[in-house]
Amino acid sequence: MTKQEAIHFLQEHLKSMKYLESAMGVLSWDMEVMAPVKGIEYRSEVLGYLSVEHHKLATDTRIGCALNALENESDLMQVEQKLVDFFKDSFEKNTKIPESLQRDLTVATSKGGQYWKQAKEKQDYSIFKPYLQKVIDLVIKQAECVGYEGHIYNACLDDFEKGMTVEELDRIFPPLRDGLVKLLNQIKESRVCIKLHPSGEFDKARQEKLTNQVLDMMGYDYHEAGRIDETEHPFTTSLGIGDTRITTHYYEDNLESGLFSSIHEGGHAIYDQNMPHELSDYGLDEAPSMGIHESQSRFYENIIGRSLPFWKGYYKKLQELFPEYGWTTLEEFYGMINAVKPSLIRTEADEVTYSLHVIIRYEIEKLMMSGEVTVDELPALWNQKYEEYLGITPTNDSEGVMQDVHWSEALIGYFPSYALGNLYGAQFYHQMKKEIPNVEEQLEAGDLSQVFMWLKEKIHSQGNLYSPSELVEKVTGEKLNPMYFLDYLNEKYSKIYKL
Ligand SMILES: [Zn+2]
Repeated sequence: MTKQEAIHFLQEHLKSMKYLESAMGVLSWDMEVMAPVKGIEYRSEVLGYLSVEHHKLATDTRIGCALNALENESDLMQVEQKLVDFFKDSFEKNTKIPESLQRDLTVATSKGGQYWKQAKEKQDYSIFKPYLQKVIDLVIKQAECVGYEGHIYNACLDDFEKGMTVEELDRIFPPLRDGLVKLLNQIKESRVCIKLHPSGEFDKARQEKLTNQVLDMMGYDYHEAGRIDETEHPFTTSLGIGDTRITTHYYEDNLESGLFSSIHEGGHAIYDQNMPHELSDYGLDEAPSMGIHESQSRFYENIIGRSLPFWKGYYKKLQELFPEYGWTTLEEFYGMINAVKPSLIRTEADEVTYSLHVIIRYEIEKLMMSGEVTVDELPALWNQKYEEYLGITPTNDSEGVMQDVHWSEALIGYFPSYALGNLYGAQFYHQMKKEIPNVEEQLEAGDLSQVFMWLKEKIHSQGNLYSPSELVEKVTGEKLNPMYFLDYLNEKYSKIYKL
């Protein structure tokens, strides 16, 4: 195989995989959004079949032949090298994991999910424990097969945050944790009383109008290149070039939940819409990592969406649509959407406590992978960390150690990306303010276009050309530094809670 032939083969192969992913994406979206209940079982079988076909493509031995042909090629273009790296990485990983282990993992996660659900409902950890043990054993085995340098947990991290290591997270997370705990304790001491949300019946049609207005301002094109639908759990899905959809969930007794989750998903969607699609033949129209993707959704949701400047410009419009907020001043509203309250549930956490939930999981996962904690010890360790960092203790294991679905699905190493998203976002914002000094005035004027353009130029259009750490350095001129996020929080919450 010549160099040209090998590159051409990889490009065509990538295209086949992407077409299949697109088809699976449409079927999954349909299953979540509109398929009738009685059609779910058959649909799941179809999806199972297609995912097997996808796995066959991903492990096709011809990939190995093409990679061999390119082995000693030194004059590849940057984009070609990226294509080769992508296949090398995924192909080697896929082929290093024996089929029997792959099968064991599929069985273990399917059972794990089932028993996790049951155990959670019954608040009985002992039901889930043996299945969790099985999953951990298999993930350790998988890490051994794939190989790693340094800590065994590095093998897990690599799946979600390319290049991220325990050594790096141990540099970043401890100062972040200590800073957050300190801020949280100051907030707990504050005498400022945040007013309660006005109650009312916020009908869906009005909520939809509000959400669409905000998403239009953000620059999410759901008119010709996307859709907004409703599902139980909101998500974003890109089904191919020109088709990035989001879902949201409106609650009639709560205006803010639907609004902020739509802004969050909108942030993900804008990213996907502005990828360098001209590089799709090289697989580069993708985010470099989960954490970078999350940085964009959290940027819009929190840094913009929960900021005072944004609401200075927009609150009147909200009040026009929702007279229920007529008695709530802008400052009171700003306090409400930023209220800090330690809770046991990660997904409902505020901006200050959210990353603490993640750090707890990171610290525990690391010990799980190195065998320093047993499944018997997990519930007590979990509760002890919640008491230590957040000052609250779960009353049962369902709101404690069994809270998230991730472990039952063998998604160990996923959590850190959530917190990294916050850190990347704050560091990007610090740089954005240097380059657009009047960004707050623009927000007050209801103009998000320069924010959009900046993110598009610096981050979205870079696709997967750089690793997460390279991208952060390229955009901000320095390595990931947790102080930007802490500074941002300290400044914001000192004002809200008069610290
Ligand atoms: Zn997200």
